[in-house]
Amino acid sequence: MIKQNQLVFKQFLSDVEDWCLEILTSNQGSKEDSRSSWLSEIRGILKRVQHAQEQQYIYESDILDIKRCVEKTAEGMRNVSGSRVNNGRVPIGQHTLPPLPYPYNALEPYISREIMELHHQKHHKSYVDGLNKAEMKMLEARETGDFDLIKHWEREAAFHGSGHYLHTMFWDNMSPNGGGHPSGRLMQQIVQDFGSYEKFKKHFSEAADKVEGVGWALLVWSPRAHRLEILQTEKQQLFTQWDTIPLLGLDVWEHAYYLQYKNNRKDYIDKWWNLVNWKDVEKRYQEASRLKWKPY
Ligand code: MN
Repeated sequence: MIKQNQLVFKQFLSDVEDWCLEILTSNQGSKEDSRSSWLSEIRGILKRVQHAQEQQYIYESDILDIKRCVEKTAEGMRNVSGSRVNNGRVPIGQHTLPPLPYPYNALEPYISREIMELHHQKHHKSYVDGLNKAEMKMLEARETGDFDLIKHWEREAAFHGSGHYLHTMFWDNMSPNGGGHPSGRLMQQIVQDFGSYEKFKKHFSEAADKVEGVGWALLVWSPRAHRLEILQTEKQQLFTQWDTIPLLGLDVWEHAYYLQYKNNRKDYIDKWWNLVNWKDVEKRYQEASRLKWKPY
């Protein structure tokens, strides 16, 4: 029994060590004051972990202590990353895998360490790589004027882009100290739009359960209806790059041009540019660009 505990403790320490190192690496050279305090907390945790690892026997009290520190720091970090301090831009093809806002084992027993590790390191990472590749290929197409494979790379950008953005949101959507129900304005909005928190929860759970095959259940805000809505995605790539906001759209369903242009969609597209209301697009851009998530 004691031996088994020692193994569990060792694994815990190594998870926390990995987490600390990942956060420190991904924030290297960061000069933001608001970050420096929790970066030094992370360094403190790392020291304690490494100290504990050097001991012959790992005490449960040390583990619990470290766990508390990790939870406290993760909470502080979350507040900083949730604020709008970082208005950086991700250059084309340079998305990065965000570190988890907690160690791999932190969501146990609800989600196992093994799942979190695979999900983050393998699945999410491959979305980041795929999105970067698609963006570079689309850049190449713009430069060479060769758009033969544009359909393929747009699909890749949608699939991997949705994957990257949704997972980035998903990790922050969870916390070892999560649960309960929302409060304040969000709670009011939920009650207004769904009737009650219980009704919202039931609808969301049913939607999630009934997603066919691969997909997500999403609670979304509609800036148009000024309401919350619950949506399913089946195959994240078929719909959009989720977590982006459309600014300019061109309807190319046949009903939009067939009576006049027959099957000559290209002509319709060419002529359509004479109609674009850039004042409106600019207005949408102004409004949308006020929203700033942390860049990854
Ligand atoms: Mn996933």
